[in-house]
Amino acid sequence: MNIIDGKAVSQSVKERVRDEIAEKGLKIGLAVIIVGNNQASRVYVNNKKKACEFCGITSYEYALPEETTEEQLLELVETCNADKNINGILVQLPLPSQINEKTVIEHIDPNKDVDAFHAVNVGKIMIGEYSFLPCTPAGIMELIHSTGTEVSGKECVVIGRSNIVGKPMGMLLLHENGTVTICHSKTKNLAEVCRRADILVAAVGKAGFVTSDMVKDGAVVIDVGMNRNADGKLCGDVDFENVAPKCSYITPVPGGVGPMTIAMLMENTLRAKMLQTL
Ligand code: NAP
Repeated sequence: MNIIDGKAVSQSVKERVRDEIAEKGLKIGLAVIIVGNNQASRVYVNNKKKACEFCGITSYEYALPEETTEEQLLELVETCNADKNINGILVQLPLPSQINEKTVIEHIDPNKDVDAFHAVNVGKIMIGEYSFLPCTPAGIMELIHSTGTEVSGKECVVIGRSNIVGKPMGMLLLHENGTVTICHSKTKNLAEVCRRADILVAAVGKAGFVTSDMVKDGAVVIDVGMNRNADGKLCGDVDFENVAPKCSYITPVPGGVGPMTIAMLMENTLRAKMLQTL
C-alpha cells in the first residue's frame, strides 16, 4: 500500500505554475471575493492568498460584510470582469442566504471563471473542450497520474454526484477512457458496485463511510471528504485504517486531495491569463 502525498504533488504543480509565470514574465491577478464571516471560508481564502504569493500571482481580496446584497456583489463581479489587471475571479462559497449563488456564478466572465462553475465552462467539460477544469476533480486526476495508474479501461466508481466534485469527476475519468459509474444516495447495492472499482473516488461528506468491505484488493482509493470526527479532528469519507491495507494507493485526509484544489486554482489562473492573451 502506498499513501499518495497530496502536499508533494500540489507543491510540484505550484512550482510548475510559478516557473511558467516567471519564464514568460507574466503579470497575473486573481480576485478573491469573500462575503460574511464563515470561519472555514476565511481559512480557505488565506490559503489561496499564500499560494498566489508563492506562484507570483497578485491576489486582490474583497471581504464584504454578511449583509451584502446580491446587487452589491454582482456590481463587484462586473467591476472585476472589466478590470484588465484581474485575470481570474473566485467567489468563495457558500454565500449568505440572501444571495443566489447561481446568479452570481453566471455573472462571472467565463474566461475569468477559474473555479469552472459557470454553465459555459461546465458545458465545455461535457464536450471535452476545456478552458478550465474544476479544481478538485482536476487535482484528483493529477494525484491519479502521480501514481502512474493508467485510467483507460479501468472500472472507476465515484460516490457522490455534486456539480463541483462527483459529476465533473466522472467526466474527467470518462475522458481518459475509464468505465465510469457515479453513485449517490439512491444507488442500490452500493458496496457491491464499489467493490468493482479499480479506482474509487469518495465524495460523500460522511466520516468513515467507505469501509474495507467496499474496496477491491489493489484499488486506488481517493478520499475527497472533509469531515470532522467526534473529537473535532479533520477526517475523510474513508475508514483509512482498515481500507488502506487493501489499496495499491490511497490518499490521506488531511494531506491528500485538499492541497491539490488550491494548486489547480493557481494553474487555472495561469490558464485564464493565457486565454485572455490569445
Ligand atoms: P455534496 O454536494 O453534499 O454531495 C454529496 C454526495 O454524496 C451527493 O451526491 C449524495 O447523494 C451522496 N451521498 C450522500 N449520502 C450517500 C449515501 N448514503 N450513499 C451514497 N451516496 C451518498 O458534497 P460535495 O460538495 O460533493 O462534497 C463531498 C465531500 O467532499 C464533502 O466532505 C466536502 O467537504 C468535500 N470536498 C472537499 C474538497 C477538497 O478540496 N478536498 C473540495 C470539495 C468538497 P444525493 O445526490 O443522492 O444526495
